[in-house]
Amino acid sequence: MKEKIIAILEGIVHPATEKGLISSGIVDNVSPSTENISITLAFPKNRDPFMNSIKRQIIEQLGSAFPEMKDKISVTVKEGVAKNTNANPKPEMKSGLTKVKKIVAVSSAKGGVGKSTVAVNLAVTFASMGYKTGILDADVYGPSLPKMLGLEGYLPEAEERERQTYMIPAEAYGVKAMSIGFFIKPDDALVWRGPMATGALKQLIHQTDWETLDVLVIDMPPGTGDVHLTLLAEMKVNGAVIVSTPQEIALADVVRGISMFRADHINVPVLGIIENMAWFTPEELPNKKYYIFGKGGAARLAEQTGVRLLGEIPLIMSAMEGSDSGKPAVTTSAEAARYYEHIARIIVNNIS
Ligand code: ADP
Repeated sequence: MKEKIIAILEGIVHPATEKGLISSGIVDNVSPSTENISITLAFPKNRDPFMNSIKRQIIEQLGSAFPEMKDKISVTVKEGVAKNTNANPKPEMKSGLTKVKKIVAVSSAKGGVGKSTVAVNLAVTFASMGYKTGILDADVYGPSLPKMLGLEGYLPEAEERERQTYMIPAEAYGVKAMSIGFFIKPDDALVWRGPMATGALKQLIHQTDWETLDVLVIDMPPGTGDVHLTLLAEMKVNGAVIVSTPQEIALADVVRGISMFRADHINVPVLGIIENMAWFTPEELPNKKYYIFGKGGAARLAEQTGVRLLGEIPLIMSAMEGSDSGKPAVTTSAEAARYYEHIARIIVNNIS
């Protein structure tokens, strides 16, 4: 019976290690008896975001393999290293993140709301405020950072240090930048499967030579999913901001995003919502505000979710043009710079 249980446990794949639970080294003890089946798992860090779904899968799969034991299966979780592991311990890898002081994740419920634009402009603003800043484009489904920072064609060089390989990030407007887009041809219609995306992201996170940074901005993929959980498990994110547009977007999508950050094993404070493309002011009518996409959508979202509204950013022509020509709006428009500085200051003052 024990062998069968072990085979079942190995058949359950931990999304972050991409290996079975036994090979992942998290199974501490397996004790079947005629009365019950008791499994102990050991997670090296109690922030493991996959813990609950793994527990659920174990109970389900053992329950269907041993129907007579269905209600007598217990899975206990402890923090620490499993004693009973068959896994070959991996050599301790030093992460390029060790000298990064704060990490801010920029996320959105949907694509196309300006999440990447906001992430890039925020990063350039932090740098202009004197903070050593980096940005990681983790939007595996549509990496846009190389274009937005005028870094297309940059090929990161690798450097060997203490028998480990680090990649040198690009630099633009005083911001160190790394993107999955540096490694793929822009025209490649690339569909990243989960494990491929998470594997590549882990490498980008830990093997980029960030050196000392006051703040690292992460441009997250839109929505919620396994890639997000991997990102949040791999690094300690100090705060998350959510970008939204004034359109009536499904409250449920935003709530799902907020719940992801606030979940037990993740515990990332949500710093607030940024409303992008809030209104339009034509150059010839500087005192007019046209609420093209509706008014106050993000403010309502903030109220309904109990999350702060960090600020509103209007439609800025130079933001759109700048995205394509590699010139972020804050570097060409004093107005844009003001909006972003206001938001950046709130973030700095509220990040713990
Ligand atoms: P996401 O990362 O959410 O998919 P992007 O940042 O790529 O969205 O933005 C989508 C498009 O909207 C881009 O063409 C970008 O230039 C444009 N855009 C974003 N924010 C603004 C803004 N405030 N004013 C004008 N255009 C904007």
